Amino acid sequence: MKKLFAFLLLVAGALTAVAQVNRPKLVVGLVVDQMRWDYLYYYYDQFGEDGLRRLVDQGYSFENTMINYVPTVTAIGHASIYTGSVPALMGIAGNNFFENDEPKYCVGDPSVKSVGSNTSAGQMSPRNLLASTIGDELHIATDFKSKVVGVALKDRAAILPAGHSADGAYWWDTKAGRFVTSTFYRNELPEWVAAFNKKYQQKPGTDVKMMDLGITLTFKLAEEALENEQMGKDDVTDFLAVSISSTDAIGHAYSTRGKEISSAYMQLDKDLAAFFKVLDSKIGKDNYLLFLTADHGGAHNPNFMKRHRIPAGGFEGWTIGGKELNAHLQQTFGTQAKLVTGANSFRVYINRKGVAEAGLDLQRVKDEAAAWLMKRPEVMYVADHARLANQAIPQPIKERIINGWNVKRSGDLTIITAPGWLEATNSPDYKGTGHSQWNPYDAHIPFVLYGWNVKKGSTVEPTRIVDIAPTICAMLHIQMPNACVGDAKQIR
Ligand code: ZN
Ligand code: ZN
Repeated sequence: MKKLFAFLLLVAGALTAVAQVNRPKLVVGLVVDQMRWDYLYYYYDQFGEDGLRRLVDQGYSFENTMINYVPTVTAIGHASIYTGSVPALMGIAGNNFFENDEPKYCVGDPSVKSVGSNTSAGQMSPRNLLASTIGDELHIATDFKSKVVGVALKDRAAILPAGHSADGAYWWDTKAGRFVTSTFYRNELPEWVAAFNKKYQQKPGTDVKMMDLGITLTFKLAEEALENEQMGKDDVTDFLAVSISSTDAIGHAYSTRGKEISSAYMQLDKDLAAFFKVLDSKIGKDNYLLFLTADHGGAHNPNFMKRHRIPAGGFEGWTIGGKELNAHLQQTFGTQAKLVTGANSFRVYINRKGVAEAGLDLQRVKDEAAAWLMKRPEVMYVADHARLANQAIPQPIKERIINGWNVKRSGDLTIITAPGWLEATNSPDYKGTGHSQWNPYDAHIPFVLYGWNVKKGSTVEPTRIVDIAPTICAMLHIQMPNACVGDAKQIR
């Protein structure tokens, strides 16, 4: 009997060893800042076979992935990808926003210090993010045995994807010319980051975001993280979140066409091919799952569009919805009190203190502001957040405004401009681009899965940015993030 019992124990032990949850060794999230979905095909013929084409040719592409909120900007995009949620619920309401009339930076945190430099670039943390991320949920599912690391040039693009319980997040300090982190994560740079900085130190003030070099440095740091944090080495799934910021900075300066942005995407293609080689050799071809997506797209330059008779324009929202609106309201209501706190990404923040000080009715001030903005021919709608339910705005756009509206952080009004009108200077010399609106040029993003458990294929089934996180979590058999409103998608 004893022998039989021991035998049974042995069999049970062997069975539990075999019956492991099926997960990849590593997940890589790759966000390319400002990457329009159509870049996959606009540049397809110029890409090599081992970089972005490897994703298109061998991966599974959700061809119709849209952002389901406004404004479509970097901080919200990164937070949404990794939380499967929207500003109304996860709290990241913009790159910059106001709360109680006070300006806030999405990842700004005065309670922490820079690690790796003596500038303020490291005074950052994910504290304004109210929801958990894929990485947080992976940590919880594995009793925190997983490693989760975020790497990007932009602070917000490293911090928000890595989540609250991250093992590390590293971003570029332009003033110092190297990568840094904050005391939120640790008190000293890991040796491998310090060594990297020694090797690749740039002249202080060098904005590598405006250079193709910025793309290469980001991938190189990601490779160092893999090697030195022992990621993808054991059976516990690790998560590496990489975001490429140069594509956005270069896009803002030179727009969606021309040699500058083309050069950036060719560099991305080359560096991704090299990164794939590292993943193949270190982790093994079928042992990692990689997904590519973007935090938003970008509009074509309005002057370029006008040259081809397509309606477009630059809406100087920060002055029109800020200073100019404030001056108009002060004149209308006969007061010197500040009535507009500011405008950001097509959103207007009415100054509650000023309105109270002047003894005015908030609704009257909002109505006057909306009526004045509506006089401009390029303004199609001014959504009043408090009255949105009764406004005749097309449902898909209304839904995006509601999803993007965080009650405490999104202000009072959202301006919807005519298609092609972006927040930009109205000068005929303007060569750049921007993004923020609901339109496909800003909201249509790539979402391609590649590697572990992924078969080649594609779908045009409508997919939303908030579906990315639950889809990854379903594949990993872990709980979705705690403010997730997306749906897991089937890979067919
Ligand atoms: Zn961005
Ligand atoms: Zn941008």
